[in-house]
Amino acid sequence: MSTTLIYDLSLPELASLLAEWGEPVYRAQQIWQGLYRNFWNTPEEFTNLPAVLRQKLAESLEFNILVPSTTLQSSDGETVKTLFQLYDGKAIETVLMKYDPSAALQQAQRDGSGQGRRTLCVSTQVGCAMGCVFCATGQMGFKRHLSSGEIVTQVMYSARLLKDQGEVVTNVVVMGMGEPFHNYDNTMAAIDRLNDPEGYNFGARRITISTVGLVPAIRRFTAEKRQVNLAISLHAADDALRASMLPVNKRYPIDKLIEACREYVAATGRRITFEWALVSGVNDTPGQAHLLASKLKGLLCHVNAIPLNPTEGYSGKATTRQHAEEFKEILTRSGVPCTNRLRRGVDIQAGCGQLASRF
Ligand code: SAH
Ligand code: SF4
Repeated sequence: MSTTLIYDLSLPELASLLAEWGEPVYRAQQIWQGLYRNFWNTPEEFTNLPAVLRQKLAESLEFNILVPSTTLQSSDGETVKTLFQLYDGKAIETVLMKYDPSAALQQAQRDGSGQGRRTLCVSTQVGCAMGCVFCATGQMGFKRHLSSGEIVTQVMYSARLLKDQGEVVTNVVVMGMGEPFHNYDNTMAAIDRLNDPEGYNFGARRITISTVGLVPAIRRFTAEKRQVNLAISLHAADDALRASMLPVNKRYPIDKLIEACREYVAATGRRITFEWALVSGVNDTPGQAHLLASKLKGLLCHVNAIPLNPTEGYSGKATTRQHAEEFKEILTRSGVPCTNRLRRGVDIQAGCGQLASRF
């Protein structure tokens, strides 16, 4: 089976393919709008095209490559997690949330349709090479990168489902399986495709990318001056502790990372988010909070603290409400804004990579 996914093509690439086939130029636009405005995902739906062209599309390109294999809804109905089978049998997941998973998103605009927020968390890799010890995806190891189209189709799948309920995706967080900055080009190509005013026209400001802290990629991202929000998985304020939780810290220690974050904020004027999974007795201590406050002093930022989602491969326990409060208080008193996030969707393993890793 061919694995060229129609969603892997940019509009100019689609146009040049159609030109090769001797099709008139306006066909590319028609197909593009079918994909990204009507959310058609099979050649048969393109009834505005001649049958011969539909046939040719069906023979040459893959359309519907995300096969949902399991869908789980949290008991509060706020979180829906879908596990998809890819063309090679590998699995990824997306999580659709009816609440704000990150403070950065609170600033994002409502879409004006009157519905609440519908935030989709997408994956960028099958597994992850970064090996963060508390993370279920990290515990799986790295399997492969997703193509730009495989990232884009995750959004299209939800867009289609929500459309049936008269709703739209309002925000996208790149916080599913994988490290987006390890798959930089495909991730950015996917974002560009989602942004395309001729197509889905999804504003970059509604997108948040979370990275484990790959410093050269952060610098590249800064230089590109994208409107996309940036979040950094920090989780510890000293190098010894951070390296024991996030091995990548051996390569890019905290001070170098924070330096890159300061450059980002200086260059873009945008607030940066730091993520912190509170692990009982490990990084939820007053000592860590004070040290963190000193590192982030004067930086336009926000700390998102969330209790650890316990995973099979890691013995750490979630913090208590009281320790989470104290942690937040110390930061806030030091002038570093911090929000305690709820653990949502825990009953359906909606933490990073927790479902797919079981298959
Ligand atoms: N690789 C990127 C994005 C995917 S992980 C990154 O690491 O930022 C998305 C977020 O979930 C990260 O902040 C990550 O640290 C966090 N995370 C992973 N496992 C977790 C767990 N068991 N409990 C709480 N947060 C977790
Ligand atoms: Fe990869 Fe992010 Fe999980 Fe670390 S936390 S292993 S970078 S997905």
